[in-house]
Amino acid sequence: MSVFAPNLLDGRVAFITGGGTGIGKEIARTLGRHGAAIAIASRKQDVIDAARDELAGEGITCLGLTFDVRDENAVERVIDGIVAELGGLHIVVNNAAGNFPATLDNISYNGFRTIVDIDLQGTYNVTKAAYEKVLKEQGGVVVNIAAPFEHWGVTYQAHVAAAKTGVISLTRTCAVEWAGRGIRVNAVAPGYIDETEGVDRFNAVGDVNDRGLKGSKQDIANAVLFLCSDAAGFISGECIRVDGAACVDMLKVAPG
Ligand code: NAP
Repeated sequence: MSVFAPNLLDGRVAFITGGGTGIGKEIARTLGRHGAAIAIASRKQDVIDAARDELAGEGITCLGLTFDVRDENAVERVIDGIVAELGGLHIVVNNAAGNFPATLDNISYNGFRTIVDIDLQGTYNVTKAAYEKVLKEQGGVVVNIAAPFEHWGVTYQAHVAAAKTGVISLTRTCAVEWAGRGIRVNAVAPGYIDETEGVDRFNAVGDVNDRGLKGSKQDIANAVLFLCSDAAGFISGECIRVDGAACVDMLKVAPG
């Protein structure tokens, strides 16, 4: 049972990149359950088809498309497709991202570039295309899924930390430049989220979460839903950390 009104996003169309798996699928489900028509897209057709069918089976209007966020032409085609099929676009959630654990000694030039291309350039590509085609004239909401690495060095994640910190910077500039156009742009930075591939991959190389503190995919989806709703109408340029205080626990020795 949600604490939010079921009609919170009635009449809105929301696009969630990477919405076929993990946190992205939970965001798609949560926005859909609160009235939005949903579009999801990523590279793997079978994954997207399965997620679309799952969400449609729950009564959510869901369009599934394929693209690579690095390909600007494909991004523009997908935005056009959403507007044509669902009649508009009001909310963009940039969730698609790549990740693999590697220390600086072990990460290749290409590995670093790939993560920056998907996480940062991909976020820019989708945001830019949505802005030019729809949001510029109409207004809307953008939520970027970042990571809480802005102020810290992060072992095994130099590439991700650099890209996601760039995403937070981009969030702020979009918010400032587009404030006058009725566009709010915010970020959500998840901590360690249970039952996700990201955490599984990092746990495989070592203890990434020494306090055993994990949030849920629903925790992230709830923060995104709030930012998309009119309740957040004067919130823009913000990054909300959803990490159970992991990042402010400097000594990593929370009692209990
Ligand atoms: P995930 O299941 O691996 O989701 C990533 C999604 O992005 C997949 O659906 C993938 O689909 C899509 N994707 C990857 N590369 C793409 C590309 N080039 N073009 C289009 N789509 C692409 O990961 P997750 O753990 O749910 O993470 C979701 C978000 O939360 C990410 O932004 C991640 O950085 C962030 N985050 C997660 C955690 C955590 O604890 N899990 C912590 C901090 C931040 P395809 O393979 O089909 O393309």
